[in-house]
Amino acid sequence: MTALLEGRAAIVTGAAQGIGLAIATALVEHGARVTIADLDGDKAAAAAAALGGAARGVACDVTSEESVAALVSGAVEAFGTLDVLVNNAGITRDASLRKMTLADFQAVITVHLQGTWLGIRAASEVMREQKRGSIINISSMSGKVGNPGQTNYSAAKAGIVGMTKAAAKELAHHGVRVNAIQPGLIRTPMTEAMSPEAYAATEATIPMRRAGEPDEIAGVVAFLASDLASYMTGAVLEVSGGRGM
Ligand code: NAD
Repeated sequence: MTALLEGRAAIVTGAAQGIGLAIATALVEHGARVTIADLDGDKAAAAAAALGGAARGVACDVTSEESVAALVSGAVEAFGTLDVLVNNAGITRDASLRKMTLADFQAVITVHLQGTWLGIRAASEVMREQKRGSIINISSMSGKVGNPGQTNYSAAKAGIVGMTKAAAKELAHHGVRVNAIQPGLIRTPMTEAMSPEAYAATEATIPMRRAGEPDEIAGVVAFLASDLASYMTGAVLEVSGGRGM
């Protein structure tokens, strides 16, 4: 049986650790060649080396137009095609409205919204010509329900939903699909930074009564990346153990 993503080439941003690394791993396991892009280029290279010959690791800052352009052209040069882009890179700068600085607000908006937009624009240039492509944007349940202390992050993640739908409508007739995933609480270095009390309180609100694992997001990404999802575009999939439904 042919692997789900045989012959496909993918880019995953923010993939040196956490959910992005799990996504890159799943895409390789399903037969794709993957460019692991991260602000931390050494960590990206180490992650790629651990995945073997099907992966390459590069430094990239998703907020930089030049860096994202170089990421896409380098990936196409290395693998000859670009079929899948996963906009996963992200940061949090949580604080109450009383304490959040303008810099905290702008940093989060810039990484998530500008970063995702730059990725969609650069990748869709290539995919439109090929008449084939799947772009998957990592939003968050925080963008659906809003979390206190995350006015910046919730706004950015809700913005990714609007961007996903607008891009999906623009690109559908070119054979390029654009979808989003809204993970709930997932066990990664990002959420390990939460206080144990906040983590436990969030976990208690999940109908499945546990946090998710990064590979439980990765499986949904592999599905959206593949032809199994060939009639899906502009969709927003909640992967949250039932939280926020
Ligand atoms: P993480 O902090 O473990 O990993 C994020 C990665 O992104 C890091 O390797 C970091 O170096 C990279 N990165 C940050 N800024 C970057 C930039 N400007 N350019 C390139 N790379 C950059 O986080 P994670 O938990 O794995 O989260 C991955 C994605 O999933 C993020 O978009 C996050 O908002 C989203 N998400 C996470 C959760 C969760 O519970 N962990 C829930 C919902 C959504």
